[in-house]
Parts: sequence; C-alpha cells; structure tokens
Amino acid sequence: MSDKKFDLIIVGGGPGGYVAAIRAAQLDMKVLLIDDRQGDDGKAAPGGTCLNVGCVPSKALLDSSKHYHHIQHDYAAHGISVDGVSMDVGTMIDRKRKVVKQLNGGLLQLFKANKIEFANGWGKLLSDRSVEVTPCEGDSYTVAGQHVILAAGSVPFTIPNVEIDGTHIVDNVGALEFGEAPERLGVIGAGVIGLEMGSVWKRLGSEVILFEAMDELLPVVDKDMSRAAAREFKKQGLDIRLGAKVAGADLVDGKVKVTYTKDGNESSETFDRLLVAVGRRAASEGLLGEESGVKLTDRGQIEVDAHCRTSAENVWAIGDLVRGPMLAHKASEEGVAVVETIAGQHGHINLDHVPWVIYTDPEIAWVGKTEKDLAEAGVEYKTGSFPFAATGRGLAMGDAAGHVKIIADAESDRILGAQIIGPTASEMIAEIVVTMEFAGASEDLGRIIHAHPTLSEAIHEAALSVDKRAIHKAN
Ligand SMILES: Cc1cc2nc3c(=O)[nH]c(=O)nc-3n(C[C@H](O)[C@H](O)[C@H](O)COP(=O)(O)OP(=O)(O)OC[C@H]3O[C@@H](n4cnc5c(N)ncnc54)[C@H](O)[C@@H]3O)c2cc1C
Repeated sequence: MSDKKFDLIIVGGGPGGYVAAIRAAQLDMKVLLIDDRQGDDGKAAPGGTCLNVGCVPSKALLDSSKHYHHIQHDYAAHGISVDGVSMDVGTMIDRKRKVVKQLNGGLLQLFKANKIEFANGWGKLLSDRSVEVTPCEGDSYTVAGQHVILAAGSVPFTIPNVEIDGTHIVDNVGALEFGEAPERLGVIGAGVIGLEMGSVWKRLGSEVILFEAMDELLPVVDKDMSRAAAREFKKQGLDIRLGAKVAGADLVDGKVKVTYTKDGNESSETFDRLLVAVGRRAASEGLLGEESGVKLTDRGQIEVDAHCRTSAENVWAIGDLVRGPMLAHKASEEGVAVVETIAGQHGHINLDHVPWVIYTDPEIAWVGKTEKDLAEAGVEYKTGSFPFAATGRGLAMGDAAGHVKIIADAESDRILGAQIIGPTASEMIAEIVVTMEFAGASEDLGRIIHAHPTLSEAIHEAALSVDKRAIHKAN
C-alpha cells in the first residue's frame, strides 16, 4: 500500500535527477527525490557520481596539479622564479573535499528552497509507479507518483582478473583519494577518465603508464586531433601503450604486477597503484522490482525512446542509465526535457549537439560529426583549421599548443562538427555548439566580431579558413 503521493518521484540525485527535481518544482510539481549517497561524515551527499567522485573532484585535482606543474615548468619563461616549491597532497585532497562538500550543502539548500522532498536512501520501482524507499536509517516505506524518473546513473566496469581492492587497485573513487603521489601508477584505459587522472598524478611526480587495448588513441576524434594530443601527452611524459591488452593484475609484496600482451608478446610492469578506467555501465541493478514493467537493453541500460519514455507508462529514464553519451550535462538536459514534457511543454534534447571535453592540458573538446563520421556516411564536407600558435593571445599567455578545426557541409556551409585541442577548449566549444544549435554556417562565424586578442579568434579564423580566407595564416 502506498502511503504518500507525489506528482513526480525521482530515483537518483545526480546531475540528471536533481536538475529534473528543481525544474519540476519550478513547474509546481510535488516532488520526491531519492538518493542513496552519503559523505564520509554519514550525511546525505546529493549530486551523484558527477559531484562526489566524478566531474567536480577530478577538476579540482586537475587544477591543483596544473598550478604545481606551471610553477615548476612554465613560470621561469615569464621571469618568475620560485624556489623550494613543494606539494602537500593532503592539502590538495582536503581542498577537493571542501569543494564537494560545499556543493553538496548548496544542493540540499536548493531542495529546501524549492520545497523538494529529499529522501536519503535506496529507491526501487515496484509496479504502477509505486516506489519502495529504504532509507539509510530507518524502515522501508512505499510512495506513489503520477510519474517516475529513473536517474540512477552508472558504475565503473571491471575487467576479468583485475580485482578492485580500493587501496592498491582502484577505480575513479580511489584515484581521487591517494594520500601521496604513487611512485609508479598504472592506468588501464586511455579514455577520458584515464587521461585526466593519469595527468593529475603525473604532474605530481608519478611515473604513469597507460594501457590501452585499442590500437588508436581517442578514436572518437579525428586523427589530426588525436595525433596532436598524443604529441602533447608524450612531451609531458605520459607513457601511453596502445594495443596493450591487460590479462590480469596481482598483488605481489605490496605492489601490483600487471600482465599484458602487446604485438603478440606477453610482458609485465609493476606499480605502486593501479587505476582501472575502462568505462562505465548503467546502474540498473536493484533498481527495478519484478513487476516494474521497465525493459532493459542487452547492455543493461534502461530501454527508452527519443523522449526518454521507458516501456512502463509514465516511467521515464535519463542520464547514464540510458543510451547516449555518459556526460553530466546530457543527463541534466534530459531531466529538464522530461519534466517539461510531463508538464505539457515541448521538452527538447538534441543528442547530436552534446559537447564533449577532456580536461587534460591542453584540453580537448568536440561536438557534432567528425570527418570520419561524414566520410562513412558519404556526406561531402569541407574543413578549416587554425593553430593557437598563430594567435597573439595564445603566445602572450605562453599557452599556444593545439588548434581549432571546423567541419562544414560542402554545399550548404552549415557547421556539422568542430574539434578543439588547446587552452580553454572546454569553454570555447560552447560558441560552436550555439552556432550549430541555430543551424549556423561557417560564414556566420566568420562574420561575427571576435574580441582581440583572444583565444576565440582561433575559432573565427578556423571558420574563415573553411573558405580559404583566414587572415593570419597562409590558406
Ligand atoms: C572520474 C569521472 C570524471 C568525470 N568527469 C566528467 C566531466 O568532466 N564532465 C561530464 O560531463 N561528465 C563527467 N563524468 C561523467 C558524469 O559523472 C556522469 O555522466 C553523470 O554523473 C551522470 O549523471 P546521472 O545523473 O545520470 O547519474 P549519477 O551522477 O551517477 O547519479 C546517480 C545517483 O543515483 C544514486 N543511485 C543509484 N541507484 C539508486 C537507487 N536505486 N536509489 C537511490 N539512489 C540511487 C547514485 O548513488 C548516484 O548518487 C565523469 C565521471 C567520472 C567517473
């Protein structure tokens, strides 16, 4: 028997679930948000993977380690000499924890201000939109909703013969909490998380080896980008071994021995710590009762249509739990779109225009189609590119590695995609996303005034270069 009724019940308080809850409250819905996560202090820690053990803490460590790296390697060129630089990893980790805690608290305040009921516990969808709540403390109870959004997120994949023990062999959670820089750090997977966390610990002094099973680095972007990235990572001393398939990892005398095959030969390396970063899978376990009526795909994701409707009436699913990129902003936008659809508005999600970012140094960002995608689809296209080394601002900053590439339809000139490797690529990609969302052409970007001197002039010039009329490079 359900004893409490809501317009909307949301299971999972990450960037998908909590954003949906706030938008629903703005639209006058009576909302219950259920999230099981607790901090070290045993208090509710809403914000999901992203805030607690993902996007935000990884960026805090990336920023701290970047400052340390710059002081050691880049300040001298500006005439600044700093003696006796040292890094206190404990302080860095404490700062990261404080950032997370501050944002956890901010969310709890937002829930209060929006009159969202929040339950710190586990939610399980039963039949007919009733949800069993098992609080972190206290007895289970059942609630009923007119609508339910499932936003339980994802958990890390594991691989055979590599057991995460949380100390020597870790996933993203452990890699954000090392008490000191390991002398040797192994990373399985040279994807977004592997590259970001590998960069953090490399900058702090670890020798870092990344094992990547695929023969190509970052196959999600075009080769000119991945080559530029590989060059920069090599300069930084990241040892990325492509086509290296890890067969297993064993603890030997307090060290981790990783066995792998590459080019048909078996080899091994020994590390102080090993990070497993081989991707993530939908967190659908324990979420659905037998009578829920919600279907899963064969990959364990919740099956949804283009509007995030599941196979059960008025039950929706969003974020990492469903198809599409596993990104925080994609989860949030799906949450908003679903809630607006429930409210009778026209919820809008455009999965073709989701920006991706890897927060290494230089940053790598992209949106839309790659040259590879278009060639495969038989679409005629043209490209324009521009290096940051030809911008006054990049050189003035002493940070001019990388370039911008814009890909436009050969006939209509409409922008179909863009890739940026370089300083603040994460911020600059937004300009291209906006242009694409308004169906803009490279000529539109080329006609827009960009302030001088700025890094975004590289976008302007890349757009001009699509029609071979860039000013500050030979076309
Ligand atoms: C190290 C790392 C770095 C990342 N960096 C970025 C980045 O820079 N940018 C970016 O866009 N993305 C990044 N991501 C990915 C991003 O974290 C996810 O895409 C995003 O968190 C997905 O949001 P979500 O709301 O779907 O799920 P989540 O954030 O996973 O939130 C789901 C929440 O639901 C809770 N939960 C699960 N099941 C239940 C249940 N049955 N009952 C109650 N609660 C439940 C979980 O504990 C969790 O708190 C990163 C991920 C990692 C691991």
